[in-house]
Amino acid sequence: MQDFEARREIIKIALQLNSTGLSAGTSGNVSVRVKGGFLITPSGVKYEKLLPPDVVFMDMDGTAHGHFAPSSEWRFHRDIYKNRSHAKAIVHAHAPYSTALACLEKEIPQFHYMVAIAGAKSIRCAPYAPFGTVELSEAALGALDGRRACLLAHHGLIAYADNPEKALTLATEVEVLAQQYQLVLQMGEPKLLSDAEMEDVLHRFWTYGDNAQKADETKRTKPKLTHHPRATLPKRR
Ligand code: 13P
Ligand code: ZN
Repeated sequence: MQDFEARREIIKIALQLNSTGLSAGTSGNVSVRVKGGFLITPSGVKYEKLLPPDVVFMDMDGTAHGHFAPSSEWRFHRDIYKNRSHAKAIVHAHAPYSTALACLEKEIPQFHYMVAIAGAKSIRCAPYAPFGTVELSEAALGALDGRRACLLAHHGLIAYADNPEKALTLATEVEVLAQQYQLVLQMGEPKLLSDAEMEDVLHRFWTYGDNAQKADETKRTKPKLTHHPRATLPKRR
């Protein structure tokens, strides 16, 4: 069997969707880019029952190879891989707080600096389209423009990164931000950070951690600063 390790990794991350509460039952799905296409969780099969051969390989033309049908959302996974060469793994989840915001068709605005973790000043919410449709894929790609994560109206969230572990971490970060935003909304209308403050954060993320911004287009063109906050980065030889 090809890509055994990648298949095991997909199952590990899918199980974590359940154990972390990011997605219950068979909701959500996980994929990884491999040579010639991508591997994706099968549709509607309980994650705890999955074995490596059950993970479905798909060509980029949308042909599935395997004994199970691929996730009903294979199309947005395929389209993200097609349109974002830097996307190597994708997690889709029906995470409770993200989904609650998405049911109000609300985005996550620049209320906290960590919103920039998804690559831009806000985490958008894609307009509603039924699951498994071309329309949902198009809506998701639009909301993901310049970003590595988005909400899906009346549905959930998508996050991608350069490996499955990082895609799950980003999905978790989005969920925590959605929860924090809802806590703030219970107390009042949050004061939003300015565009300049968010640009500053995006710029700082450029040099934060080993993967910050790595999987986003903005990585290739360093975010530009329209103002010059005092530099706090250490000098390195
Ligand atoms: P699948 O089991 O087909 O992956 O569907 C789950 C889901 O979240 C659909 O949006
Ligand atoms: Zn879903």
